[in-house]
Amino acid sequence: MTAPALVWFRQDLRLEDNPALQAAIERGAGVVPLFVWSPEEEGSWSPGAASRWWLHHSLASLDESLRALGSRLVVRHGPALAVLQDLRRETGAEAVFWNRRLEPLIVQRDRAIERRLREEGIDARAFNGALLFEPWEICNRAGGPFKVFTPFWRHCLAHRAPEHPVAAPASLPGVEGAEAPASAPLAALELLPSIHWTAGLEKAWKPGEAGARAAYDRFVEKDLVGYSITREQPDRPGTSRLSPHLHFGEISPRRIWHVLHDWAGRRSAGGALRASEDYLREIGWREFAHHVLFHFPHTTDKPMRAEFASFPWERRPRALRAWQRGETGYPLVDAGMRELWATGWMHNRVRMVAASFLVKDLGIHWLEGARWFWDTLVDADLASNSLNWQWSAGCGADAAPYFRIFNPVLQGEKFDPEGDYIRRWVPELAAMPKRWIQRPFEAPEEVLSRARVRLGKSYPRPVVDHAEARARALAALHRLPDDEGEEEG
Ligand code: FAD
Repeated sequence: MTAPALVWFRQDLRLEDNPALQAAIERGAGVVPLFVWSPEEEGSWSPGAASRWWLHHSLASLDESLRALGSRLVVRHGPALAVLQDLRRETGAEAVFWNRRLEPLIVQRDRAIERRLREEGIDARAFNGALLFEPWEICNRAGGPFKVFTPFWRHCLAHRAPEHPVAAPASLPGVEGAEAPASAPLAALELLPSIHWTAGLEKAWKPGEAGARAAYDRFVEKDLVGYSITREQPDRPGTSRLSPHLHFGEISPRRIWHVLHDWAGRRSAGGALRASEDYLREIGWREFAHHVLFHFPHTTDKPMRAEFASFPWERRPRALRAWQRGETGYPLVDAGMRELWATGWMHNRVRMVAASFLVKDLGIHWLEGARWFWDTLVDADLASNSLNWQWSAGCGADAAPYFRIFNPVLQGEKFDPEGDYIRRWVPELAAMPKRWIQRPFEAPEEVLSRARVRLGKSYPRPVVDHAEARARALAALHRLPDDEGEEEG
């Protein structure tokens, strides 16, 4: 009888299309599913409060699914290597399998663990469960990593179709002749906050593999066909909201890819093809973010474009607090920041506007924004968060051109033309007519008073004047040394 295998679950909290789990099953012996909580090993980017809430519920859901297969999740807390070694001794396991994560500290830790376990004679192996392609598979003509999205994605599309997803197992063999290994109760990890502030999260989300599948199926059935247009409308549920499910690996990108291809193949209308291409392109941005993080690990904390290292960011604690609380006086920014606080998520268009406002209008370092998002987003993801914050600040891979400074008023009028998004998240402006709702600070006194808005009392005056802030940001950005740019193919 072959000795059992440990399957070390991490950000791959699913049974379907899970290569590490699949490899363990194929060995034909017992399988011990394990989760190790070791936030200290993630350094300053250990999971934030909203992520911990999600993780708790996702682990509970995984355990339930495993129990339905006659198994269960072993939960432990401690340094990962020590826990793996303990569990190996307890179960007699001779193999440890996991799916790769690409955060810099985790890459270093996992390499050390793999080396050590192999020295001990263990079959220790890592698989790709999170991405369409491995980061070292997609190279430019010079054999290096891409730094620009469009050629990267073109290359991915021409590369090869990702493998078909593997179905979830129908049962899982346990460890024969041995006691099931002890597990800490999930509650012992203390992932849930001691003060109950998560009602909005509970209402908005269903963490776990079943929730991920339901969200994707509903999106494909209802919203995908109109995605090319509705994805830009924060006042509607036009996007898939799969980001936290993808971050925690509750659904595989391979499944997303193949379902999309089947869906588009069954439809002849050009709009359907475009919608599926647009959606896949977003999955491509996620892929790009992970590849960039793998090749440029310093970008979690340092700008990709070195000349930004000397950028004169400002320290403005009061303005930062106003931004965090959704009290900047710019309704679209405030609505987004309040949506984030209430639900752990913000629409992508509004994330771009809110991020631009912090770094360009307020001149505050992008890391301050990245850290706030890290703590409050249920989809907080080191690759996507770092790439997008650097994009917004203009200092990252394929960044927004420095002169692109979102005007929060015009963005609101374009993407929330009726003001419904503002009315939902900034209720003190609910009675404002649509002509003024994105710019209450310019509204005539009688309009404000009819809408029962008292600027500076019931709703704040703008913390900065956008036109002045824009000019100041442009002047500072102009003073940066020139970037030569890089050619890619
Ligand atoms: P959909 O439009 O349905 O897109 C499908 C999937 O594609 C998403 O679930 C996501 O996995 C991926 N995706 C879409 N846009 C992007 C993008 N710009 N970059 C990378 N992947 C993308 N996304 C995160 O998952 N985690 C983060 O921590 C994160 N931080 C961000 C910070 C800033 C400043 C900005 C501007 C964007 C950030 N994003 C982040 C990207 C994007 O806003 C979210 O992925 C998206 O809003 C999630 O909603 P959705 O699932 O409905 O997206």
